[in-house]
Amino acid sequence: MPRNRPGELRATQPLLNRPYGWDTPAPDRIHGLSARTSLAVHRYEALSRDHDVFPGVTDRSLRRYRAFLSPPGNRPRYPYLEECGCRGCSFDDVRHARDALDTVLQELPPRARAELGRLIASLDAVYLTRTLPDPFVDSRRVWRPEVWWYRRLEGCRYAQTGTT
Ligand SMILES: [Zn+2]
Repeated sequence: MPRNRPGELRATQPLLNRPYGWDTPAPDRIHGLSARTSLAVHRYEALSRDHDVFPGVTDRSLRRYRAFLSPPGNRPRYPYLEECGCRGCSFDDVRHARDALDTVLQELPPRARAELGRLIASLDAVYLTRTLPDPFVDSRRVWRPEVWWYRRLEGCRYAQTGTT
């Protein structure tokens, strides 16, 4: 419906100017995302009042997710709990990064959500092949047992090969 396009554009203009003034350069494009979607993500991050959302959280979460999945070979990977709960360290737990991506995904406008959703889905597919289901998840204390990315076997960060 091309007739709707100008209206849509006008509706988003005020948001464009709020987080970044005219003299502020556009933030970097997020690896794996189009410039348009990157901008939608940056805009959401800048405006969000969610405690877990801050400028750069999407990029950081995607990097963490990729790093976790990146060691070569097909040995299983085990997500591990990060003991320090501060906002910086908590991203060492790849599941926390996945939580953050989910939060961002819910709040994006449709087109940006679809694009980021495809990127996340491609990483999810790898996560599912590189982690193992936890058969005892319901008898253990799991942070969010209803969320599928928590229902995978956990490990200890010091037992992993490699540093990620
Ligand atoms: Zn910390």
